[in-house]
Amino acid sequence: MPARYCEVALPVPLRSTFTYAVPESLEGKLNGQPLIGRRVVVPFRRRAMIGVVLAESAKPPDITRAVSAGGGAAAAPAIREIAEVMDPVAALPPKLIELGEWISRYYVAPVGETFRAMLPPDVEVRHDREYSLTEAGSAYLDALAQKLTLADEEREEAELLRRFDPREAEGESRGRRKRVDEAAAEALVRRGYLAARNVLRHRQARTQKILAWNPAAPAVKLDARAEEVREALTSASGPLPLHVLIAKAGVSRSVVERLENAGALSSWDEPLTPGEDPWDTDFTPPSNVLNAEQNAALAEIWRWLVAGKFAAGLLHGVTGSGKTEVYLGAIEATLSRGKSAIVLVPEIALTLWVGRLVRARFGEHVAVLHSGLHDTERAREWWRVRHGEARIVVGTRSAIFAPLENVGLIIVDEEQESSYKQEETPRYNGRDTAVYRARLEGAVALLGSATPSLETYHNALAGKYQLLQLTSRVENRPLAAVRIVDLREEFRRQHRATPVSESLRAAIALRLEEKTQAMVLINRRGYSWSLMCRGCGALVQCENCSIALTYHKSRQRLECHYCGYSIRPPKQCPKCNSEYMYYVGDGAERVEEYLREQFPAARIARLDRDTVRTKREYQQVLGAFAKGEIDILVGTQMVAKGHDFQRVTLVGVVAADLALGRPDFRAAEKTFQLLTQVAGRAGRGELSGEVLVETYYPEHYAIQYAAQQDYASFYEKEAQFRRLLHYPPFMALASVLVRDRKVENAIRWSRALAAYFAPFEERGVKILGPAAAPLARLRRDYRFQFVLKSPHRAILGKALAGALDFCAANQFPETAVIVDVDPATLS
Ligand code: ADP
Ligand code: ZN
Ligand code: ZN
Repeated sequence: MPARYCEVALPVPLRSTFTYAVPESLEGKLNGQPLIGRRVVVPFRRRAMIGVVLAESAKPPDITRAVSAGGGAAAAPAIREIAEVMDPVAALPPKLIELGEWISRYYVAPVGETFRAMLPPDVEVRHDREYSLTEAGSAYLDALAQKLTLADEEREEAELLRRFDPREAEGESRGRRKRVDEAAAEALVRRGYLAARNVLRHRQARTQKILAWNPAAPAVKLDARAEEVREALTSASGPLPLHVLIAKAGVSRSVVERLENAGALSSWDEPLTPGEDPWDTDFTPPSNVLNAEQNAALAEIWRWLVAGKFAAGLLHGVTGSGKTEVYLGAIEATLSRGKSAIVLVPEIALTLWVGRLVRARFGEHVAVLHSGLHDTERAREWWRVRHGEARIVVGTRSAIFAPLENVGLIIVDEEQESSYKQEETPRYNGRDTAVYRARLEGAVALLGSATPSLETYHNALAGKYQLLQLTSRVENRPLAAVRIVDLREEFRRQHRATPVSESLRAAIALRLEEKTQAMVLINRRGYSWSLMCRGCGALVQCENCSIALTYHKSRQRLECHYCGYSIRPPKQCPKCNSEYMYYVGDGAERVEEYLREQFPAARIARLDRDTVRTKREYQQVLGAFAKGEIDILVGTQMVAKGHDFQRVTLVGVVAADLALGRPDFRAAEKTFQLLTQVAGRAGRGELSGEVLVETYYPEHYAIQYAAQQDYASFYEKEAQFRRLLHYPPFMALASVLVRDRKVENAIRWSRALAAYFAPFEERGVKILGPAAAPLARLRRDYRFQFVLKSPHRAILGKALAGALDFCAANQFPETAVIVDVDPATLS
């Protein structure tokens, strides 16, 4: 009869945990240590799976209620046993288990998939136990030495202890080199004679090989396998680490080597450790003396930290007001109180930027976590944090799950960014999770932004978050002047539409003369938005999605930005065979080409996902721009954020109103934020800056208030609409999507769900739909959508959790229904 039973969360899309017994063979090694938070390997259906223990008890579970992990229809399933315990310590500390349970409840996400998102990657990381002799241990050794005769046991103990005795010749190094009998050593640890700590074994190899297709390659005849490699490196994704390439292309290492020898591939080594970022070497951090506003904000944060309780604050500071300095000061205060800190940034590129500043200031105790890291590397950083080797974690969304203990501060920079919302299960928002984690830890949550989300500003006005403001730029630099270019008027004057308006072209020409720099933002990749038939008016659409394909000229492809489907541009309309096809809408590639035509002598670069694929390339482009080696930088919103360029005096925004046309309640907010952020890129140095915003809707309030950089007025106007139309922050919102390859199924399940939801109308949940989703077809699935709104979050939560139970009871496939609580977008 086993002594213990565990509830294990497994990475399967089911909303329950599974019960396993701890076999005696394991108990022997565990010595009664608790299992909560530890990763275990268990049998599940016919496979072995890694899960995490959420609870344990001495009583066997009520068999009739227990969920069978065995599958099948057995009446009283036998409880299966844990096969293996993976790590010497609990992977998840107790606070993170609580956090995971909250996420699973709040976002109605399967518990196992939630915890999978919180655990380190399943790669082997070697943990070693390092022992040292305690004072009690050396006293005991001395006592044994006094004795005339020793029992066998005592002799063995003395021998083992002596190996860790620094007084012995070579004592320490011998103890380390020879294998230690762990069971015996652990027994001595329990008696207090040895101290133990877990360390990670560091591997020597710290670089990985990156391969790229060599466009200047001598003509090599490509066989099918070589073609796979070319495909993987060119149209699919760009340069890749060797192991990823092999997996992606499905070829063996020798195929890659052969191509490399033939000169078709070029390769280089990239460091694996963010701590060894090549940018770090010649970097001296700015040493700024805080101004009065920064000091006042920091003093307030100090007070919250000293109080040692949960507090949430919004640091609302205009672009260029020096929020980063306040963050750094707050981290310093946190460390000085013996606590640790997490800094979330909205994208991988910013982990480099911010990570560098933080490392320059606080040295080695910094870990960087983001999804762009190779699994092994992420696992290593993760365990470094878990073992207490890092006290500050800088990372993207999922770094909110960093296994730090004793957290005193969580910073969320650019808290309004939609990249904090995960668009797959579990669909959590990193910002809101940060606030909840701070609450659990009794820590300070500090949200920073120049353009706070409506939700956060609403919370600040309501007194839920405390509001700190930085109202002016550092050293009283003026905000950039914003000029709106009315494209309708331009067209009336010019009678032709160019990729860049005449006003913007002239402004760029001026910068080239002055020898300062310009940035041009165009939030669309590719050359043309779509290919249209003049015969029938149809756009060439994706085969799998209800969306027009984007034309990429350099690759000569039409591509779907949703599913990756791509074809050669057809000469004739696929619908009516007309030969009159033409391209509509200019993207970043076209804008770059146009600027090259207009300014043949200028040094122009483009920064978007088509031109930069690796961290290294991204750094190279931005580094060159920062050094003044580029005159004009064209890019998508990648260029809009965070970076601090001193010689940029002009920012042009092409098609600024693109987002306004989308059927999304956040369209105005997104537009306002983007324009304000990008305006913040101009005039950050000594030189003052100008921003040109091209639009067909110059009178729209999002554009007007962004031009005036007037957040408060924008908030007021937008809040009015949200209140009127029952949207967040005045209502809790959720979307439920029903999807299937077969349209009949999607319709049938939607109808059934509609019937299930109907009674909730009376309980204060407004139910819209089912209606065809804005993307009615995506990756071959037909999609129908419900939108649920309620002033009562608890009832909304009940309706959603109940809906999933209903779907399970009616055997809808697990993938057919997607629930999104607090969705970032409805389109
Ligand atoms: P924000 O994030 O608020 O837009 P940053 O934190 O990036 O602004 O700061 C903008 C620039 O101002 C940076 O170059 C930073 O080094 C500088 N800076 C910050 N604080 C001060 C200060 N007190 N005096 C002078 N320069 C400062
Ligand atoms: Zn046609
Ligand atoms: Zn598609």
